Amino acid sequence: MEKNITGNRTKNIPFGDLRAQYLQIQQEVDDAVQRVLKRGWYILGEELAVFEKEFAEYCESLYAIGVGSGTEALHLSLVAAGINPGDEVITVPNTAVPTVSAISFAGAVPRFVDIDPNTYTMDPQKLESAITSKTKAIIPVHLYGQCTDMDPILDIAKRHGLIVIEDACQAHGALYKGKKAGSIGEMGCFSFYPSKNLGALGDGGMVVTSNLELAEKVKLLRNYGQIKRYHHKIKGYNSRLDEIQAAILRVKLKYLDAWNELRRNKAGLYDFLIKDMDGIITPTEAIYAKHVYHLFVVRYVQRDKLQTFLTEKGVETLIHYPIPVHLQESYQGLGYTKGSFPVAEDYANKILSLPIYPELSDRDMVCVVEEIKAFAKL
Ligand SMILES: *Cc1c(COP(=O)(O)O)cnc(C)c1O
Repeated sequence: MEKNITGNRTKNIPFGDLRAQYLQIQQEVDDAVQRVLKRGWYILGEELAVFEKEFAEYCESLYAIGVGSGTEALHLSLVAAGINPGDEVITVPNTAVPTVSAISFAGAVPRFVDIDPNTYTMDPQKLESAITSKTKAIIPVHLYGQCTDMDPILDIAKRHGLIVIEDACQAHGALYKGKKAGSIGEMGCFSFYPSKNLGALGDGGMVVTSNLELAEKVKLLRNYGQIKRYHHKIKGYNSRLDEIQAAILRVKLKYLDAWNELRRNKAGLYDFLIKDMDGIITPTEAIYAKHVYHLFVVRYVQRDKLQTFLTEKGVETLIHYPIPVHLQESYQGLGYTKGSFPVAEDYANKILSLPIYPELSDRDMVCVVEEIKAFAKL
């Protein structure tokens, strides 16, 4: 047990520990990087081609296209789906802002629907009233590692002729009624930001789909719209998953299921340790879902005070996310106000993400919960 200069910090439990994961598989990762360096081919080469095949297979989809980030996966998916300036795209307000940036950069207008109070994901019952004659697409976000209730959303989308693009950036390996996240809608978008369940050592992203036409379109878009060298069929971008990251991700993909199981075990332990505490609400796994606990988010009325207390005790926590997107300065032009999405707004004031990652020790988890209990007794 360490003490800091103020003397009251009894432990140091960080929110994440990417170094610990690297050290576990250091030799394999280093070998993969060396293989790429020695080959001398760094963009759109064989590592990416093989990783795309492996990841498509993992997601039970026919195609996977590596891109520069999760944001770009969403952006290029929307462009590939033919979203045009002025079209409306519906998502949720309690997501990472990049979900919405992608909609903006496709030229479309983001529209929101509130969330289901139990799962924190899009409430299908509120979806239909947000659809207008301009709506073209829906982006359900599989928040914290749990899939949105997709069947009712797919039904509504079908009835209105809308395309469904999954934001699976927090849900690598999660299941919905036995189906892999990303394979349920027309397209699925993943981020390989280092702290995600499957993380690169840098930025990266992937679009998965079983629609050949859309796959081909994303492939063109990510590489300047180029059909063959210096022949540009459409206007495109530069957004590619590089060879070094692809080689690293190939190593890590082999461990993803085991790491997700560890996350699930740890979530179970938190649940067990927290279960009889008054006022702390732990996550629920929906009957249709296999949750992969990218985050372990509890709800508590005195969230800010609890967070300050835990910080003082050396337990790092985060808030995902403190300001719903419709209340962000950058999205004031959309015409939403405080009160537009009561559930998401209420939860933004109560949610707290506790440390959860495969390398987190049970001992540290017990410490986290002991400190929460100490706070509750004050
Ligand atoms: C991480 C994340 C993104 C963005 O991914 P980047 O790779 O950082 O661009 C988008 N949506 C959600 C839900 C995310 O968690």
